[in-house]
Amino acid sequence: MSFKSVLGQLQPKRILTNALQNSSVAHAYLFYGQESIGKKKLAIAFAKALNCKETDPLDACDECASCLKIERRIHPDFFYIEPAKSTPTSREAVIKIEEIRELQKKLAYLPYEGKTKVVVIDSAELMNVQAANSFLKTLEEPPSSTVLILISSNPHRLLPTLISRCQGIQFHRLSLNDIREILKSQPQEERESLTESEFRVNRSQGSVDRALAEDLAEMEGLREQLLEVLKNVSFDRMDIVFGFAKAWARQTEQLQIVLNELLGLIRDLALYRSGCGQSDIQNANLSATMIPVAQSHSLKTWLDRFNAVRNTQIALSGNANAQLFLENMLIEFCEAA
Ligand SMILES: [Zn+2]
Repeated sequence: MSFKSVLGQLQPKRILTNALQNSSVAHAYLFYGQESIGKKKLAIAFAKALNCKETDPLDACDECASCLKIERRIHPDFFYIEPAKSTPTSREAVIKIEEIRELQKKLAYLPYEGKTKVVVIDSAELMNVQAANSFLKTLEEPPSSTVLILISSNPHRLLPTLISRCQGIQFHRLSLNDIREILKSQPQEERESLTESEFRVNRSQGSVDRALAEDLAEMEGLREQLLEVLKNVSFDRMDIVFGFAKAWARQTEQLQIVLNELLGLIRDLALYRSGCGQSDIQNANLSATMIPVAQSHSLKTWLDRFNAVRNTQIALSGNANAQLFLENMLIEFCEAA
């Protein structure tokens, strides 16, 4: 992976290429922006370019011994840290202080075989407090010949003191054309019909993982189920409220997917209700079911329900009691009707 093989992200690439060209590479960067849009790929490409055996490269050659070692994560001057769950049942993966201490020991030495030691910390906001405070010391007194790259999709969860010591580089969601290109580059046996892959492109919201990960049949079933809830939930049908909350509250892995689907559906219903053009509809294949549901409530109902889901997502990202907040969300659905 080199700069030129990372799709989109022209601005971040320009900033990094200029830094290489002017020998003005910062000690620390923060790559931020939504998930799965190329932050990690570009960080690795940058690590390669900084150590590439070509003379004064402005991009990784992706062929020399150094580039290949970084690609395989076996380069002694390249350090990649990501959160891990301490036990299989842990709710959230974290980066612990032990890992940061281990890293700090290694950073005390000069580069072993490359020109620059490069540290990539993926999902840096998942450093626990001790780890973050310890890492802050490294940022305050950066070791020589070292570039630190923090990656985060939720930079608001990082300590402000960490953010202020990094050069921030914002990544933007990919264009639908970029997503289309990435889907086309998938192995032949995994390719789908053009309609299916267009469907993925439209639903990707500029994120590659989202475009690739969906099990189309399973998602189809989920969307139909959620539409039923949106159509029928009311104060006369509290069984739907409690049934839904109970069914989903324990499925922590799935919950954010369900809430994102709800947001997507409500967004489409609001668009149908407002009479806007239909070119932006994400779930166009469900139009026959969706249009009558959209018309059965006012635009304000859909907007209120949209906000109820957003607020629930925010509450749940802070470890709130899922069942309680799902019930509350659905009661707000009833009230908005
Ligand atoms: Zn190279």
